[in-house]
Amino acid sequence: MKALVKSKPEPGLWMEDVPVPTIDPHEVLVEVDVTAICGTDLHIYNWDKWAQKTIPVPMHIGHEFVGHVIEVGKDVKNIKVGERVSGEGHITCDHCKNCRTGKSHLCAHTVGLGVNRPGAFAEYVSLPAKNIVKVPEDIPDEIAAIFDPLGNSIHTALSFDLIGESVFISGAGPTGLMATQIAKYIGAKNIIVSDVNEYRLTLAEKMGATHTINVLQTPLDSVEHEYDIALEMSGNAYALQTLIKNISHGGKVALLGIFPEHVSIDWDNVIFKGLHLKGIYGREMFTTWHKMLALLQSGLAISPVITHHYHIDEYQSGFDIMNSRNCGKVILNWKK
Ligand code: NAD
Ligand code: ZN
Repeated sequence: MKALVKSKPEPGLWMEDVPVPTIDPHEVLVEVDVTAICGTDLHIYNWDKWAQKTIPVPMHIGHEFVGHVIEVGKDVKNIKVGERVSGEGHITCDHCKNCRTGKSHLCAHTVGLGVNRPGAFAEYVSLPAKNIVKVPEDIPDEIAAIFDPLGNSIHTALSFDLIGESVFISGAGPTGLMATQIAKYIGAKNIIVSDVNEYRLTLAEKMGATHTINVLQTPLDSVEHEYDIALEMSGNAYALQTLIKNISHGGKVALLGIFPEHVSIDWDNVIFKGLHLKGIYGREMFTTWHKMLALLQSGLAISPVITHHYHIDEYQSGFDIMNSRNCGKVILNWKK
C-alpha cells in the first residue's frame, strides 16, 4: 500500500510502498479516506529534537483520519465491515490503575498512532476495536478527520465552567481556534484570543473571539480585559508567563500547549492568587468523544478552521503551508 513514511532521519516525508497491516483478533482494518495534518506531524516532518528521540525510522505517520472498515478481527463484535469510522489514536494499556478506574487518558503506558506505531497517512490503518469511533451520518468526512484535535480543544475548553465567564485563549492555532468556537457556543461572555500571526487572529474573529491581541504589537500586560479562565494553547513560554501574571485572583488555567524547553513561571502568582492549573493530554476516553459528537450534532460549527485541502499526492504543499503557519487545519484527501 501507499504510505507517507519517515524513512530517513532528516527533514521530509516520502511516499513509499509498505506492507498492508495485519490485524490481531481484537483489531480493525480501516481503508483511509481523508486525513489531516497535526502539529505533531509537522514536528516529525521537520525532524526536530522531540521527533528525533521519539520516532522510530522507518515508520509511516499520521493519526487524524476517517475511513471505512474493511476487515474486523475474530474477537470484534460490535463493528462491521463498511462502517464509516474515525478513532482515538492513544492506545492505552487496560491494566494500570488509571485504565482500570475510568481514567485511561492518564495511562502512563499510552502508545500513539503514527508516533509509536504505524499511522494513518496510508491507504490502510489498523487500530484496536476499543479505539474505533463510529461517525454519525450527518457529520462530513472532513470534520470526522479532525476529531482528534477537536477533541483536544473540547477537553481543554470544558475543563472549567465557561458559561458567562471571560476566557483568555493564548494561541490561535487550529486547537485555539476550535476552542474559541466552543467557548462561544457554550456561552462564554468574553473570549480574548492572542497570537503573533495576523492571519490566525483574523480567523479567530471569524470563529467567535470578542477581542484579539497581537502580542507582538500589544503586550498582554497593557490590555484592560480581565479574565478568570485561561486556555494555554500556544506552547510559548512568554505566553504562559504573561497569562499567569495577568489572570484574575482565583483564576483557572488549562494547559494544552507543549513547551519545547523548560519554562519557569512566577509561583507567587499561582500561590497568592490561588490559581488552579490543569494539564491536558489528549482526550478523555471516551467522555470527550461523546461530548464532541453531541456538540457537533447540536450545531457546533467548526468548518472555518479548515482552510486548505489537498489530494495526498500533493502532500508536500500541505506540509509547506503548515510550515508557513498561514493556515488553519490542512486536509489531505486519500480518495481515488
Ligand atoms: P500551533 O503551533 O499551530 O498553534 C500555536 C499558535 O500559538 C500559533 O498560531 C503561534 O503563532 C501562536 N503563538 C506563538 N507565540 C505566541 C505568544 N507569545 N502568544 C500567543 N500565541 C503565540 O499548534 P496547535 O495545533 O493549535 O496546538 C497548540 C499547542 O498544543 C501546541 O503546542 C501543540 O504542540 C500542543 N498540543 C498538545 C496536545 C496535548 O495533548 N497536550 C495535543 C495536541 C497539540
Ligand atoms: Zn493504562
